[in-house]
Amino acid sequence: MQRTRAVRHQKKRKMRPEYRIILFGSGLIFLLVVYFAGSLIFKSEERVYSEPLLRISSLDELDDKTREAAELFLRIARDQGLNVTITETYRTQERQDYLYTQGRTRGGAVVTWTRNSRHTKRDAFDIAKDSPGHEYDDTAFFKKCAEIGESIGLEAGFYWKSGQQDMPHFQMTTFGKLIYPEGYERSGKGK
Ligand SMILES: [Zn+2]
Repeated sequence: MQRTRAVRHQKKRKMRPEYRIILFGSGLIFLLVVYFAGSLIFKSEERVYSEPLLRISSLDELDDKTREAAELFLRIARDQGLNVTITETYRTQERQDYLYTQGRTRGGAVVTWTRNSRHTKRDAFDIAKDSPGHEYDDTAFFKKCAEIGESIGLEAGFYWKSGQQDMPHFQMTTFGKLIYPEGYERSGKGK
């Protein structure tokens, strides 16, 4: 009895205050890492959409960097006289899945080749020519837009290989860098 108590006592004494601080500190760091990793992974799952199949075209629904890229893209395109409009930004996974079935298990033309779209990550947007009845029939218009997009660091679906080409589509890659051409500043003021 005496011996066990002595051993216990010894074990307790081993936990010195420095170790407690280290243990507490590493616990705190672990929690922070889990929190930030979680917030990165689940960033698009936070909001609940009452009508998840509806098309969303607000730039506010994009990730900060992609939103900035879309705003810069619009400024440059309009400065070059291109009558461009944003048709879609963020897409819920439900809507992506729904669009995927179009032309496959549902009628209509195929509009997407993937279930795993950057739209669901808030990193992509689609454009159209702001010209009723002729939104998608001007290839030269989309080529010019694709050139602008690529010049500022966006990936343009226009250049995807045939069969996957997506003329109205632009996306920002995770490690992509937004490039401001001469005459355009980050402040948001026009040239
Ligand atoms: Zn798209």
